Amino acid sequence: MHSWALTAMVAYVLLLWFVEVCMGMPDPRQRDMLMRQEVSRQTGGRVILTAAEQRLDAYLHRLKQQEMSAAQFPPAVHFFKAKPLIQSSPVFSLLRKMPKGGALHIHHSSLVSVEWLVKNVTYRPHCYICFTWDNSVRFLFSSRQPFPRWDCFYWQLLETLRAKMGDCTDFDNSLIQNLTLFTEDPDTAYPSQDIVWEKFEKAFISAAGLITHAPVLKDYFYRGLEELHQDNVMYLELRSGLSRTYELDGTIHDKIWSLKTFQEATKQFVADHPDFLGARIIITVKAAVKEAIQMQRDFPDVVAGFDLVGREDSGRTLWYFREALSLPADLGVTLPYFFHAGETDEEGTDVDQNILDALLFNTTRIGHGYALAHHPLAKELSRKKNVAVEVCPISNQVLKLILDLRNHPAAVLMSEGHPLVISSDDPSLFGTTGLSYDFYQAFVGIGGLKANLGTLKELAINSIRYSSLPPHLKETGLAMWQNKWDVFISDFL
Ligand SMILES: [Zn+2]
Repeated sequence: MHSWALTAMVAYVLLLWFVEVCMGMPDPRQRDMLMRQEVSRQTGGRVILTAAEQRLDAYLHRLKQQEMSAAQFPPAVHFFKAKPLIQSSPVFSLLRKMPKGGALHIHHSSLVSVEWLVKNVTYRPHCYICFTWDNSVRFLFSSRQPFPRWDCFYWQLLETLRAKMGDCTDFDNSLIQNLTLFTEDPDTAYPSQDIVWEKFEKAFISAAGLITHAPVLKDYFYRGLEELHQDNVMYLELRSGLSRTYELDGTIHDKIWSLKTFQEATKQFVADHPDFLGARIIITVKAAVKEAIQMQRDFPDVVAGFDLVGREDSGRTLWYFREALSLPADLGVTLPYFFHAGETDEEGTDVDQNILDALLFNTTRIGHGYALAHHPLAKELSRKKNVAVEVCPISNQVLKLILDLRNHPAAVLMSEGHPLVISSDDPSLFGTTGLSYDFYQAFVGIGGLKANLGTLKELAINSIRYSSLPPHLKETGLAMWQNKWDVFISDFL
């Protein structure tokens, strides 16, 4: 047994003994002590705040109390309805200014806001559109009229189409609708998990023709970093399948081209914004472990590791891919894993088992880990191995794992101080940018009144601490973050 485990056990036994001997009116001092001890276990519970930080903390606490007593509490309602409430929240505007560290769980296809895709990308020359039989759209950049395809019989040049319309506002809004899940009445639009996932996948396919156009891709990455930077995020680990890209004349570039483009866009962005730490990729090509090993070897600075993605509930389990996932170990090479696991509310299923398997495959972090709170052994293991859980509150709500975020299982993890980071998963699909919306839900909804400035501080530090960066860059990142934090605190005073 580890010495910390022994100490924890002794403390636990002593505590129980204390409580048991206390009969009649509990001793108020002991009660206070127990309450303080419990709070010290939560995320950020051991962070010591400076006098200035304590002032901000007290202010945040008051604001949070006000929000909790308002007629509508944003974390308790669907995000699509809560968004305007959150936007007018003073807690949210503070969170926007707060340096949040890194975004460790965002997917390539939903990195950039759809407003940019529609207002910028679809206005570029040679952009064709086609309306499919199932009320969806496809885009294609081409130097000549594209040939009909099985899903797209009639392609129209957007420039011509828009010229005929005059006012394009409604049309552009309808395009935005096709690229996001956002709707005013989510309960009617998405009555079940299956239906919301169907729309989710449709939106991805619609955006593909825009994002996989080679000249767009570099701008897309750059814009993605810009949106994060504007939200005071300084680092990104992007999950990407590294799709092939196409030129106007139909020339196709391979995955390596996409990887290099990401590398160049990041380099350019860091040169333009020296307070941005950088960005790396977690490769998500289904069962292409061999390919990922090679890419990690060739681009060690950019490639963080590997993940399997897709909807867990309808896909294959990690255990199904056990042969492929054992390949790096069999070959004697290292390929860090960042598995999505336990993004389910169906306990006892094979998918539910993914959490334990992710840990057995030595995952570096767990994507979502929504089911972790129900697996005591896996939870212990992840804590012991210091494997952080990437909590994406809005994603879990929109994809219908939970409605009221106060009941999110991460509340348990947070109260125990389990290693956690907060991320946004598919921001463009959910109508968010950056991390502030998800931080709001975690801080106000999941953490409740208990969560304080220490919690926020620890969550931000965690995003560097549990990143895939090598130790010296983590140190650089933490120092950069601390500077930003100090400015944030002194600006408040
Ligand atoms: Zn994800």
